Amino acid sequence: MRTYQLEEQDRIEDLIRSCTLCYVGMADENGIPYVLPMNFGYEDEIIYLHSAQEGHSISILEKNPNVCITFCTDPKLMWQDEEVACSYRVRADSVICRGKVVFEDEYDEKVNALNIIMRQYSDREFSYSAPSVKNVKIWKVALENVSAREFGVPSKNVYKYKDRSIF
Ligand SMILES: Cc1cc2nc3c(=O)[nH]c(=O)nc-3n(C[C@H](O)[C@H](O)[C@H](O)COP(=O)(O)OP(=O)(O)OC[C@H]3O[C@@H](n4cnc5c(N)ncnc54)[C@H](O)[C@@H]3O)c2cc1C
Repeated sequence: MRTYQLEEQDRIEDLIRSCTLCYVGMADENGIPYVLPMNFGYEDEIIYLHSAQEGHSISILEKNPNVCITFCTDPKLMWQDEEVACSYRVRADSVICRGKVVFEDEYDEKVNALNIIMRQYSDREFSYSAPSVKNVKIWKVALENVSAREFGVPSKNVYKYKDRSIF
């Protein structure tokens, strides 16, 4: 598989914004990993997440706020020869971000975070009831380290694409 490292910040931000989901990896005090699929928002090098106030993830993060967040664009299956297994590729780009979760408690900042998350999924403007804002837990992750790679990039225009996502 051909793999390219991506360096341009604009390109990496476009990749993040093109994703529907992220995978948030954390580790408990015994080093046992726990990874959750989550919705997200992104603005100014900060990833915004939201959750219930309690749960296994919150218990872990209260002891160890370090997270590794992975994004992967919609994968496309490609092949050079449909009958040759090793000619198959999955074309996708992925981004891995590391940082620490900080919980946001201030009301207006929580509303701002919810707006950033909703902008990832809709162009509409939303309002939120006060109990909804109070009950939601907002996670902010300022990015400390980011890497991005392209996978399955064809060297020549000989690959055929499946015109839909395979997953
Ligand atoms: C597409 C998608 C988007 C999501 N977006 C969000 C989001 O934005 N915010 C959010 O809070 N949650 C989201 N979830 C749900 C999230 O993945 C967790 O299930 C949820 O946050 C509860 O996690 P918890 O650690 O509090 O688990 P708890 O409710 O404490 O659950 C305890 C146990 O249940 C199991 N468990 C928990 N979550 C899952 C899971 N997803 N799959 C299988 N087993 C599980 C684990 O073994 C865990 O130890 C999303 C899920 C999907 C599939």
